[in-house]
Amino acid sequence: MAARILDGTAAAQAIRAELAPRVRAFTERAGRTPRLGIVLAGHDPGSEIYVRNKLKTAGEAGIVAELVRIPEEAPVEEVLAAVAALNARRDADGILVQSPLPEAMGADAETRVLDAIDPAKDVDGFTPANVGRLVQNRPGLVACTPAGIMELLSREQVAIQGARAVVIGRSDIVGKPMALLLLHRHATVTICHSRTRDLPAVARTADILVAAIGRPGFVTPEFVKPGAVVVDVGINSVSDEALVRRLLPPDSPRLAAFAKRGSLTVGDVHPSVSEVAGALTPVPGGVGPLTIAMLLANTVAAAEARLRA
Ligand code: NAD
Repeated sequence: MAARILDGTAAAQAIRAELAPRVRAFTERAGRTPRLGIVLAGHDPGSEIYVRNKLKTAGEAGIVAELVRIPEEAPVEEVLAAVAALNARRDADGILVQSPLPEAMGADAETRVLDAIDPAKDVDGFTPANVGRLVQNRPGLVACTPAGIMELLSREQVAIQGARAVVIGRSDIVGKPMALLLLHRHATVTICHSRTRDLPAVARTADILVAAIGRPGFVTPEFVKPGAVVVDVGINSVSDEALVRRLLPPDSPRLAAFAKRGSLTVGDVHPSVSEVAGALTPVPGGVGPLTIAMLLANTVAAAEARLRA
């Protein structure tokens, strides 16, 4: 039997609807709307799409989002100056610096920028102060993608306490915070990565399996315990037709979209996992929409906290 689909688009809509009265109440009390500053350095095509989506979705939610563009060839000091200006602005509630920064800014550019962001405005939840708070299970701003996954699991009434959870991927933005959030909800958590031995066997122990790897269709049915809840974080653009045909069943309506566009967004989980899993997040329409919804939620939370402070 095919797995139950965990609908991230619907959950994201519900989250945004719940934010609307909070945005109205903040706007009335503060005499202004919540405000998010997005810093975009360079012209990475993926970043351009992400930032456009963030600006549009924020606007629809009644949050003013302002884009600060930094030229590709600028030194990292220009990004740091933009961050300092947003830190200082009383009407800026959230700050987000879109990753990746141009390579020419140096290997330590991302760290320097994260160290510069005011933790009270860190709506991505990536600063050391907010990561530390997460480790200690104290209130703070939490990374949007894992926070969105927790919202989805909770809204779908997935039991977490006592469950065995396996997170594949140990990045700072998804894997590690995901594991911590599951741990704080009393799951027994294992983090896997590229050097994990016998990964399918470890993954098969999971009641909740989160794939945050960045490899199309990597998680196949041999990774999945029958009935497990599988969360697919991967967003991979695939233009290789042979790979697309390996990933999609011959009657998939998505093949027509691929023929038209020449590329397709697929997750880290192979679609055949649907035959084994109990529940599964689709790509697209799973984790992606939740990430932006949680960015808005973090911006509203930051605005409310700053008003109280
Ligand atoms: P990353 O490249 O920083 O980390 C990938 C992780 O996967 C690493 O920790 C690595 O150890 C692990 N890995 C790589 N190859 C492996 C292998 N063969 N076996 C086991 N583990 C392996 O990536 P990330 O930023 O965490 O993103 C992961 C995926 O999630 C990407 O596809 C990214 O586009 C997507 N993503 C989606 C959202 C969203 O909103 N849905 C947000 C962030 C990232």
